[in-house]
Amino acid sequence: MDTKVNEYIEKLASTHQLSLDAYEYLITHRDEEAMELAARKARNLSRSIYGKAIYVRGLIEFTNICKNDCFYCGIRKDAHCSRYRLDMDDILSCCAEGYDLGFRTFVLQGGEDAYFDDDRLCDIVSHIHASYPDCAITLSVGERSKESYQRLYDAGAQRYLLRHETANQQHYHQLHPASMSFTHRMQCIQDLRDIGYAVGVGMMVQSPYQTAHHLAQDLKFVETFHPEMCGIGPYITAQDTPFHDQPSGSVELTLYLISLLRLIYPPMLIPATTALGTMDPVGREKGVLAGANVVMPNLSPVSVRRKYQLYDNKICIGDESAQCRHCLENRMDRIGYTVVTDRGDIKVWD
Ligand code: SAM
Repeated sequence: MDTKVNEYIEKLASTHQLSLDAYEYLITHRDEEAMELAARKARNLSRSIYGKAIYVRGLIEFTNICKNDCFYCGIRKDAHCSRYRLDMDDILSCCAEGYDLGFRTFVLQGGEDAYFDDDRLCDIVSHIHASYPDCAITLSVGERSKESYQRLYDAGAQRYLLRHETANQQHYHQLHPASMSFTHRMQCIQDLRDIGYAVGVGMMVQSPYQTAHHLAQDLKFVETFHPEMCGIGPYITAQDTPFHDQPSGSVELTLYLISLLRLIYPPMLIPATTALGTMDPVGREKGVLAGANVVMPNLSPVSVRRKYQLYDNKICIGDESAQCRHCLENRMDRIGYTVVTDRGDIKVWD
């Protein structure tokens, strides 16, 4: 292994910070030995904080209607997919099923669908909150006003996933239409933090035009912002998007970045994502062994799963919720980890 890479990994594991140049060097000069070293340190760090427990989140994909036209996304406004939205009863029955399966966190994710204005979404959040006071409610519904985030928080949502997608402004504009703004996305992330949400950020790995420098900026952003969660997965080609002929990202680089993220902010909640599982049949297991500590089985009704195709060949679209839950439990068991029934909040660390 390159001696400087070795030195940087050691330094990161003990100080949890590096210069932007050092992050970029770690990315461009990685080799198998470096990835193994980073994974071993990340795994040990994760175990020292969370033991062998894996947190689960029940993912409810409640609308694929979106006003945005992100160039990479299979449910973008201009994609010709068949559209759906779930109503309150559908969502509550997903939660009921999820609760019985041991989920204590529900993640409501969807496109930016104007139908779910503040009144409607607050109504849904407060119903879930009243029915399952021991559960955390996570929202992942894109950019909204600070007032809207505040209302949703007051209604009972405590966590919010809003991937920053890239910490480089120019790259952001290569991935999104001119109607979307990097500054606004970052402002939303800050607003969520200021309100008191546990905030999840994240990026796709090897999205079109992404460079090692951009990824280094993503790592620096996480180092300075210290989000409670960071979700990363490989970019995966999605048909019917402007990027339909762009190659998917690699599992290997994603795993290495998971390890570096764990070293940067040890208690951070890091999912082994569905995108990782789509690119490699044991991608999620590899994610955990690289330092991830969360999995997000799908709780959406099977009838709509096929329609939430963010990218090609997405896995688990035919499985019932119970199958997804048990499949992940078995996968984690096989690598010596245990899926736990727990809200799965971030642990205090100093
Ligand atoms: N609309 C919300 C938002 O913008 O945050 C949440 C839904 S959005 C579909 C969820 C995430 O899917 C995005 O943040 C993006 O990183 C990821 N995603 C979309 N298209 C993808 C693709 N082709 N490959 C991998 N991930 C993708």
